[in-house]
Amino acid sequence: TSTGASDYDFIFKLVLIGDSSVGKSNLLLRFTRNEFRLDTQSTIGVEFAYKQLVIDGKKIKTQVWDTAGQERFKTVIPQFYRGSEGALAVFDLTKLDSFDHIPTWIEEVHRHTPSDLPIVLVGNKSDLVDQRKVSREQATALAEELNLSYMETSALNASNVEQAFVLLVTSIYQKKM
Ligand code: GDP
Ligand code: MG
Repeated sequence: TSTGASDYDFIFKLVLIGDSSVGKSNLLLRFTRNEFRLDTQSTIGVEFAYKQLVIDGKKIKTQVWDTAGQERFKTVIPQFYRGSEGALAVFDLTKLDSFDHIPTWIEEVHRHTPSDLPIVLVGNKSDLVDQRKVSREQATALAEELNLSYMETSALNASNVEQAFVLLVTSIYQKKM
């Protein structure tokens, strides 16, 4: 920027996709503000938030876009994807449907972005151990098939949330170098 030393080296736009109520908004809240909400009402339109990471000594500013309710219609406006450099494809480890819909979401991403876009598959709500419906083996197999990385997170207890974003940003960064 014009104000002398820039406050970051890179800025990456990231998008969160996946079915309603898998925890996308809470992953965003946890990552950018270290907060969690039991009730996150979906607003109309698109929302995003920023968070800076340091990777390989470089200050990387992430701009993370949340679908804010549009995902109920299983599709998102093109502006949502425009300029994005990576995606987190989120499902709920306690909801088989949300896992079954992942290939559809990946197709949707590929329709709007370059085919080599780094994508991390995220199984969220790992804290709900007793309600788990998708095994790590199942998820890992799908990730391999679709050429994605895989992480299990909990926005509730913060487990692996920052790590999932760091994994994604690291892949984007390595692709650029
Ligand atoms: P979105 O529709 O994908 O944005 O999902 P939300 O972030 O709105 O979350 C949907 C519901 O799941 C809310 O009641 C959240 O409090 C809850 N939730 C989100 N993440 C987790 C998690 O990691 N663990 C548990 N137990 N609940 C979660
Ligand atoms: Mg939401």
